[in-house]
Amino acid sequence: MFDRRQLIHAALAAPFACALPAWARAAKPPANAASMGRFIAGLPKAEFHVHLEGTLEADMKFALAKRNGLSLPYADVAAMKRSYVYHDLPSFLKIYYDGMQVLLTEQDFYDLAYGYLRKAASQNVLYAEMFFDPQEHLKRGVAIEAVIGGITRARGDAAKSLGIESQLILCFMRDLSAGSAMEALDAALPYKDKLIGVGLDSDEKGNPPEKFAEHFAKARAAGLHVTMHCDVNQENTLEHIRTALLDLKTERIDHGGNIVQSPELMALARSRGIPFTVCPTFSGQVIEDGRPINALRQMLDAGLKVSVNSDDPAYMGSEYITEVLIRAQKDSTLTPAELVRIERNAFETAWIPAQQRDGYLARLKAYAQTWGVTAG
Ligand SMILES: [Zn+2]
Repeated sequence: MFDRRQLIHAALAAPFACALPAWARAAKPPANAASMGRFIAGLPKAEFHVHLEGTLEADMKFALAKRNGLSLPYADVAAMKRSYVYHDLPSFLKIYYDGMQVLLTEQDFYDLAYGYLRKAASQNVLYAEMFFDPQEHLKRGVAIEAVIGGITRARGDAAKSLGIESQLILCFMRDLSAGSAMEALDAALPYKDKLIGVGLDSDEKGNPPEKFAEHFAKARAAGLHVTMHCDVNQENTLEHIRTALLDLKTERIDHGGNIVQSPELMALARSRGIPFTVCPTFSGQVIEDGRPINALRQMLDAGLKVSVNSDDPAYMGSEYITEVLIRAQKDSTLTPAELVRIERNAFETAWIPAQQRDGYLARLKAYAQTWGVTAG
């Protein structure tokens, strides 16, 4: 591979730089949609808000159903994808949980996780922290060993074969009982060395974060990190963000876009350096008085530590992080420097050792330099 920086230096030193071929002339920030697309595609990335079960593509569902002797109520992949119609969080979750029925064995979870990691690595994701929902599997009689074991084996193989590092976050499903979440945590704790943290997902309505205060405390005592979803446009959303930050001391907020409606909470989050994992496909717009607010743009402008993520790509038009960033760039008029800042935010707030972080940040900086981009 040629080093583009050397070419840049050569171009600057040459008395007749225009004699150089166009591709070698200078590092220029992306100036049109095509070059922006190339810039985003090659950008070293991290992803922290992706639900592994939300990467279960329709074709894999058919393959797993066949392997497990199950029949699906759809004629083919296209018909299944046409059924992915939702208008709010509960209608989305119904489709999402129905889809998990095909995940039964350790090999199924391996295939699911490896499939995501292969796709992510192909889009220059260097590091991912992935959510999974054990309660949904435990209640179907799938052993936690199969779930965590398959995903862990896939993580190891993907690191070796594809060079992508990853870690795992166990999510409590907030619409199920607190007892069910505690059972899942207790089942998983013997495997805590395979986990990096716990999170909170699923239907927020009527399920405030304090419902799981005991669970977060227990996980923290076991050495796990803590993050939680604060979905956008939910009832009592600002109270939930406040509770997550102040009472439950969350280290990260997943989504959290409504914080732009509270200067006080924004100041608190900023002072603590709280990261926000925004998923523009699902949580990019906050609705205020019936009008949409571009949450990503406002959070960036407010100096919050925002990263951009894909959430449940198999159910969101199979748009993974590169496609999500390309769309976000257009919708939120992100500059190249802001795109670098978003990835820098991600690497800076990853739950990884300093040496690993420094390596990622150095790669990001070198990449930005080859394009003549300085992160703001
Ligand atoms: Zn999510």
